Amino acid sequence: LLFQVNGHSLDSNAQDGESLREDLQEFLGGEAPLHRVDDLTRVNPVTLETVLRCLQARYMADTFYTNAGCTLVALNPFKPVPQLYSPELMREYHTAPQPQKLKPHVFTVGEQTYRNVKSLIEPVNQSIVVSGESGAGKTWTSRCLMKFYAVVASSPTSLESHKIAERIEQRILNSNPVMEAFGNACTLRNNNSSRFGKFIQLQLNRAQQMTGAAVQTYLLEKTRVACQASSERNFHIFYQICKGASADERLQWHLPEGATFSWLPNPERTLEEDCFEVTREAMLHLGIDVPTQNNIFKVLAGLLHLGDIQFADSENEAQPCQLMDNAKCSVRTSASLLQLPEDVLLETLQIRTIRAGRQQVFRKPCSQTECDTRRDCVAKLVYARLFDWLVSVINSSICADPGSWTTFIGLLDVYGFESFPDNSLEQLCINYANEKLQQHFVAHYLQAQQEEYAVEGLEWSFVNYQDNQACLDLIEGNPISICALINEECRLNRPSSAAQLQTRIESALAGSPCLGHNKLSPEPSFIVVHYAGPVRYHTAGLVEKNKDPVPPELTTLLQQSQDPLLMVLFPNNPKEKTQEETSVQGRAPVLTVVSKFKASLEQLLQVLHTTTPHYIRCIKPNSQGQAQTFFREEVLSQLEACGLVETIHISAAGFPIRVSHQNFVGRYELLRRLHPRTSSGPHSPYPATGCSGPSPHSEEATVQSLLQDILHTLPALTQAAATPG
Ligand code: ADP
Ligand code: MG
Repeated sequence: LLFQVNGHSLDSNAQDGESLREDLQEFLGGEAPLHRVDDLTRVNPVTLETVLRCLQARYMADTFYTNAGCTLVALNPFKPVPQLYSPELMREYHTAPQPQKLKPHVFTVGEQTYRNVKSLIEPVNQSIVVSGESGAGKTWTSRCLMKFYAVVASSPTSLESHKIAERIEQRILNSNPVMEAFGNACTLRNNNSSRFGKFIQLQLNRAQQMTGAAVQTYLLEKTRVACQASSERNFHIFYQICKGASADERLQWHLPEGATFSWLPNPERTLEEDCFEVTREAMLHLGIDVPTQNNIFKVLAGLLHLGDIQFADSENEAQPCQLMDNAKCSVRTSASLLQLPEDVLLETLQIRTIRAGRQQVFRKPCSQTECDTRRDCVAKLVYARLFDWLVSVINSSICADPGSWTTFIGLLDVYGFESFPDNSLEQLCINYANEKLQQHFVAHYLQAQQEEYAVEGLEWSFVNYQDNQACLDLIEGNPISICALINEECRLNRPSSAAQLQTRIESALAGSPCLGHNKLSPEPSFIVVHYAGPVRYHTAGLVEKNKDPVPPELTTLLQQSQDPLLMVLFPNNPKEKTQEETSVQGRAPVLTVVSKFKASLEQLLQVLHTTTPHYIRCIKPNSQGQAQTFFREEVLSQLEACGLVETIHISAAGFPIRVSHQNFVGRYELLRRLHPRTSSGPHSPYPATGCSGPSPHSEEATVQSLLQDILHTLPALTQAAATPG
C-alpha cells in the first residue's frame, strides 16, 4: 500500500514505540526532531529550507548519512570517525535481515547492491554512482565500498603469482594507493584530489565472491605535470620520490636532499599522501617489481629536470632560443635520466620541422613560448602514457579470468559538476558527463517509480517533469552542437579567433533553449544552462585544447630513448604510426579530446544501462575542510549541482512512503479490534477532525482520524504488548 496524506507521511515501520509516537506527532503537525529524519523526502513539508535544516541538524549530531529517496546523501565529516567504518559494523549491515532498517550508511547501499546481485534468479549487474564536487568524499566513499566488499565478498582462494601469496581483495585494495599516488594531487579544494575519473568493476563469481576487478579511467589532467595553479601541487608521486628516496637513489636519480624544481611547487607542505613506502609496497603487491619501480621513478626524476630547462627570449628569429643559466645542466641530467641523446633532446625542443608534401622538410627555430610548449608537451606525453600503462598493469594484476566471474558491481567515482570564473574545455567535458549521468539517473528513477505505481494500480504521471535532453542536444547533438562546432574548427584547421567561435556557436545554436544569453562579458564566451545552473565557457584556447596537438618530432624523439620503460611506452615500430603522424600525412581524421571523451562516455553509459544503478551524492559541508561546520549556502549550491533538489521534488511529487499491505494490516489490524471506528459516534473519546481540518467526509479526514485513534491508543497498545498473554 502506498500511502500519503497531503504531503505528510507516516512510517509504520518505526522501530519502537517512542519513534512511532514521534512519527505520529509529526504526522499530526507536530515537530519530530529533525536529526531523526532518515530520509529527506520525509521532512515535512519537503522544501529546500527543511531539507537543509534536516541535513544541518544531522551533521551537528554526527549523523553523516541520510537517504533522499533512492539516493544516499553522504556529508563529509572532515574528521576521523573510525567506529563508522569498522569491520564489525560492515558485518552488522551484511547480516541484518533488512539493512535498510538500520541507520542510513554507505554500507546499506553496499549491502543492498550486493543482495540485488545475489537474490535474483537471473543475476543483474549493479552499479554505484558516486558524485559530488571536489573534496566532498567521492574517493573516500568508493574506497570504503571496496573495503566493504573485501570483507563481505571475500574469496577463499589466494593468489600465488608474483611470488606473493595474497588474497585478490587485498590486491584490489592495493590499486588505490598506486592510482592515487600517480593520479591525485593537492589542490585548493582537496589535499588529495583525484585528477581523473574512475570506473572500477568488481567481478563476482556464482557464489558472490570477488574474484577480480577491472579499472577504467577517464580524462587524466595531464597538464598538471607541467603546469600547476598557484598554491596547488603536482601529482603526489613526484613529492613522494623527492621526500622518500634513499641516499643511493638520490644519487642515481639526481635528486639531492632539498633540491627544488620548477615543476614541484609547494614541497614544504607535508601531506599524509607523501608516503613513498606505501606506494612502493602497493606496487610490489600489484606485481611491479623493484627494478621496474626504480625505472619509473628514474623517468619521473627525468621529467622534473626537464621542467627546469628554461629558454631565454630569442633576439634573432633565425636562431634557436638560448638556454637560461643552469639550464644546460638540466638538459644533460634530463637526457641522461630519460636515456635520450642530449643534443637531439635540445634540438627537438628548439626547432620545429615542417613537412611540405612527401619529400620536403623545413626546419624553423621556435620562439621561447613555443619551446616551452614543446617541453611541456614531452612531459605530458610521457606522463599520460605512463599512467595508462600503470592502469593496464594494474588491470592485468587484478582482473579475473573471463570464465571465473559472472556478475559485477561497478563503482563510478567521477568529477562532479564544475563552475569556475574561468571555464574551458575540461569543464565542458566534466559537465557534459554530469549531464549524461543526470539524465541516466532521472530516467532510471522516474521509470522505477512509474513502474511501481503501475504494478500497484495507482494512477500517477510526472507530466511536469522537464528532462535535460535539450541541454545534451546543445552539447553533443548531431549534426550541429557545441562539440560538433569545436571539432569542425579542429578539422578545418583554419586560423580562427575566440570571438569568431563565439559567433559561430551563437548563430548556429540560437534556437536552443539551453544556450544562455551572453551579455556583458568582456571576453569571448558562451553560456550553457545546465540542469545544475548556467556556466560560462570561454572560447579562447578551446579549439587548440581540443586538438591537443603533439608535434610528431616529439614522439620520434621519445622513440629514440634507450630507457627500457620509455621503449615500452614509445615503441619504435614503423607500422604503429602514432595518430598524430598519421593525421599529419592526411590519412586519418584527428581524434579530438572531445570526440575521444564522448566515445568513452558513451561506452560507460552503455555499461551503466545494463546495470541496476544506485546513487550516492557526496556533500562538502564547508570548503575549509573543518569538522562540525555547516555552511548552508555552500551545501545548497551542491544540492542543486548534484540534482538532489530535483530528486527531492520528484520524490515528493510521488508517494514518499511505501508500506506493504501485509505489514500495514499486521501492524494496525489490532486497532480496529480495540477501537472499532466510531469517530462520528457519541462514544468516541476523540473529536472527528477540527473545523479547521479537512472535510470529515474526505479520504484524508478518514486517515487523519484513524491516526488520531492510533496516537491515543498507543499507551494502551504498548501496555497490552507488555502484558504477558
Ligand atoms: P573527492 O574524491 O570527492 O574529491 P575525497 O574522497 O578525496 O574527495 O575526500 C576529501 C577528504 O575528505 C579526504 O581526504 C578525507 O580527509 C575527508 N573525508 C571524506 N570522506 C570522509 C569520511 N567519510 N570520513 C572521514 N573523512 C572523510
Ligand atoms: Mg577523488
